[in-house]
Amino acid sequence: MQDWGISQVCWGHFYLDGGSMFGIVPRAIWSRLIQPDEENGICMALRSLLLRRTEPGSSGTGRPGGASGGRNVLVDCGIWPAFPQKLRDAVYRVHQPDMHRTLAEQAGIGPGEVTDVVATHLHFDHVGGLAREVEGNLVPTFPEARVHVQRRQLEWACSASVKDRGSYVPKMVELIAGLPGLVVHDGPYDLDEGVRVEVADGHTPGMQIVHATCGGSHFIHAADMVPSSAHVPIPYVMAFDLEPLKTVAEKESLFSAWPGAVYFFMHDPDHPFWMLSRTEKGWQRGARWASRGP
Ligand SMILES: [Zn+2]
Repeated sequence: MQDWGISQVCWGHFYLDGGSMFGIVPRAIWSRLIQPDEENGICMALRSLLLRRTEPGSSGTGRPGGASGGRNVLVDCGIWPAFPQKLRDAVYRVHQPDMHRTLAEQAGIGPGEVTDVVATHLHFDHVGGLAREVEGNLVPTFPEARVHVQRRQLEWACSASVKDRGSYVPKMVELIAGLPGLVVHDGPYDLDEGVRVEVADGHTPGMQIVHATCGGSHFIHAADMVPSSAHVPIPYVMAFDLEPLKTVAEKESLFSAWPGAVYFFMHDPDHPFWMLSRTEKGWQRGARWASRGP
C-alpha cells in the first residue's frame, strides 16, 4: 500500500464579519493578524483537505469500487451555491467558480473520482458544495462519493437553535440527508488505515476533526475549532460557537496532544498548512508548511 498524498483544493472565498470571527477579542488586536475591509469584513478561504491514496500498479484514478482500490477523500467542500442573490452578493460576497473545473485544475481528477467527502459539520460554508446548480436545478457535485457525517450533527442541523439556525440551509440539509452515499457515524472512527476521525462539540455538536498520517508526519484538519492561523491563540474563538468554553478546552487538549502536527486551517485566507509554536504567551501560529502532491 502506498502512502496518503496530502494536498488541498481551494474552491474560492467569501466574507464574514471580523468581529463575529473573533468573539471577545478586540478589533485593535485581531486586525493585526487579519486585515478587515471598510465593512469590517474579512476574506475567508473555502478549502478542502484532499487525501489521495493509490494502490501500487493501479491507474491511480481512485475510482470507487474499481480495481485500483484507490481513494480520493475531500474534507468539507465549499459553500452553498443557491443562496438568494442578496445573501450571496451583499452579505457573504461569495466567490466560488465552477467546482468541477476547480477540481480538474487543482487536483487533476473528475467529480466521479471523489470517493469520500467527510463533512466536518453541516454549516453552509462547509458542505454547500455537495450540490451544484445546473440550469436552475440542484444536482450532486460528486455523484459517487460516500458522505460521512456524525448523527448528532445531522440531528442538530434538522432542529438548530435560534442562535445558529442561520448557519444551516434547510434545503441543503434535506438534500444531504437524502444522498444515497450518506454514511452516518456515532462517534470517532477510522476512515481508512492512517485516517482517523475524532469528534469535538464546542462549535456545534458532533463536529468531525480529521487526523491523517503521511510520510511520518501527522496532519490535522481542525474544522471550525481553528478556522484560520489567526485563531491559534486559545481564547481566540468565534462568536458562532455554541459552547465557547468547550472550544477553549478542546483546542488546548488538541494542541497539547499534537504540538508537532501539521494543522490544516480551512478558512485561512493566505495559506492552509501551519505548524504551531508555543511561546511564553501560549500557543501561536508557527511556520507555514508547503503541501505535497499525491
Ligand atoms: Zn466555517
